[in-house]
Amino acid sequence: VNERVQQATDAWTQLLGPKSVTTDPELLAALGANATGFAPRAVVAELHPTSTDQIPAIVHTARRYGVPIYPYSTGRNWGLGSRLPPRPGCALVSLRRLDRIREIDVRQHYAIVEPGVTQEQLADRLRDDLLPAVLNVTGSSPRSSVVGNLLERGTGFHNHRVDDLRGLEVVLGTGEKIRTGFWGTGAGPRSRHHYRQGLGPYLDGLFTQSNLGVVTAAVVNLVPAQEETSTIVFSFTGTLVAEMIEELAELYREGVLRQITHMFNDKRLLTLRGASTVPTWTGVTAVSGRRDFTALAADLIASHLGRLGASVSVISPRDEVDPFLAGLRDVHLGRPTEMFMRGVHEVLGGTSEGIDLDELDASPVGMLVCNPFLPLEAAPVLEAMDIIERTCEDRTVVPAIAINPVDGNALEMVVNIYFDRTAPHEAAAAHACNALLHERLYGAGFRFYRVDIENMSFLLSRETAGWSVVSKLKAALDPDGIISPGRYSMS
Ligand SMILES: Cc1cc2nc3c(=O)[nH]c(=O)nc-3n(C[C@H](O)[C@H](O)[C@H](O)COP(=O)(O)OP(=O)(O)OC[C@H]3O[C@@H](n4cnc5c(N)ncnc54)[C@H](O)[C@@H]3O)c2cc1C
Repeated sequence: VNERVQQATDAWTQLLGPKSVTTDPELLAALGANATGFAPRAVVAELHPTSTDQIPAIVHTARRYGVPIYPYSTGRNWGLGSRLPPRPGCALVSLRRLDRIREIDVRQHYAIVEPGVTQEQLADRLRDDLLPAVLNVTGSSPRSSVVGNLLERGTGFHNHRVDDLRGLEVVLGTGEKIRTGFWGTGAGPRSRHHYRQGLGPYLDGLFTQSNLGVVTAAVVNLVPAQEETSTIVFSFTGTLVAEMIEELAELYREGVLRQITHMFNDKRLLTLRGASTVPTWTGVTAVSGRRDFTALAADLIASHLGRLGASVSVISPRDEVDPFLAGLRDVHLGRPTEMFMRGVHEVLGGTSEGIDLDELDASPVGMLVCNPFLPLEAAPVLEAMDIIERTCEDRTVVPAIAINPVDGNALEMVVNIYFDRTAPHEAAAAHACNALLHERLYGAGFRFYRVDIENMSFLLSRETAGWSVVSKLKAALDPDGIISPGRYSMS
């Protein structure tokens, strides 16, 4: 251990107490295990602050001794690198113990949460206190964070998580703490969070997919509870993908559809359903609101999709359904589910019973993700699908694909590649395939809305104009480059 690292670690230990600083080499090495199967980066320590007040001093210490930090919320960024920093030599800062729900306001429908607050914790609190609001949940573990997912610009089943963002509290790389929008202005309690932009440049965007600060709290939107939510599940053959895309685009444009739709291919669905045969594509979306509005909208969607040849079911919160449909319905009702985690654990043929579902990084399951973002139009979707299918076929990989229209203009694709991390040839083929997917899709003009810590360098080397502006911001807000070097940034 070099002298600077030793001094920084001593200072952090003095600040946090010895129980809150991990330096044991064996424990640190174990932190390098990651579901993506990327080569572990050496970390010098892991810090476990217990109060957001400790973050400025952690940052000052990092600056003073020139030892970078890599903050994470719950560290479950599976598929993109988990809690692995892009570069070696960082101290990890686990924010899991900063788990206070500071405030919930159902009239203005927001919650102020710290980074360690999990989606289960917030959803349970809304349920237990009988509050008329629900959380926009993701399909990841119930014990994954709200803040980390939002900062990574993840996706919930209601809408994109970043659209839930209504204000941030951030410790910059200078050690200075700021709050964005009206929150930072001394506005009265009823005038802080009702208008996210505040006055002047809109700062929140600077801190998502960013290494300019450590976020210590976020104001997140809650969805007002509705009288009725109808979950619409539909299945269709591969020949209908183009028609489905165009039909869904029309339903969004008309305002009938307002929430995200997910459409899973059979490989993706097999990780969820466990059946030997499944329809080629299975889609799910929901409509919520007054009962009369919901009935009409669900009918319209069912009849439009049915006319194209899809088989459609509309499920109410009161219907008796099998566990698969119940899981799909739960996420649309704001209840986190373990169904998707179970599916991934079972992808190599093993069981998910009796194991800790959150220990994906320590399991044999390998998972890589490629995330292009496309216009909601049939032609580009078919072109991207063709590139994905040919590339995967070349590498004898079967892609698990989700096509998720988010509004009338756009859709995100989630291409998952599963592999056995204990089989070196399989792992090498999966990594090569994912790199090639990024290259070929990029070459064909497609772009990505999230990227893992290894394929990021490929993108950083191409889109130079934007990244050079990011470098200027980095120099101003984190002059010593001590926060998450290389994550969504050249420095
Ligand atoms: C079965 C399965 C289903 C999934 N479904 C979904 C899904 O539906 N939607 C989805 O979006 N993802 C999904 N994922 C991917 C992933 O698990 C989630 O995105 C998860 O929420 C990310 O982990 P986290 O919340 O612990 O974030 P973290 O890993 O804590 O954070 C992500 C990154 O953000 C940065 N960061 C985090 N917190 C801070 C902070 N306070 N300050 C500064 N920087 C910070 C760090 O760089 C960190 O690496 C799924 C994964 C699996 C295995």
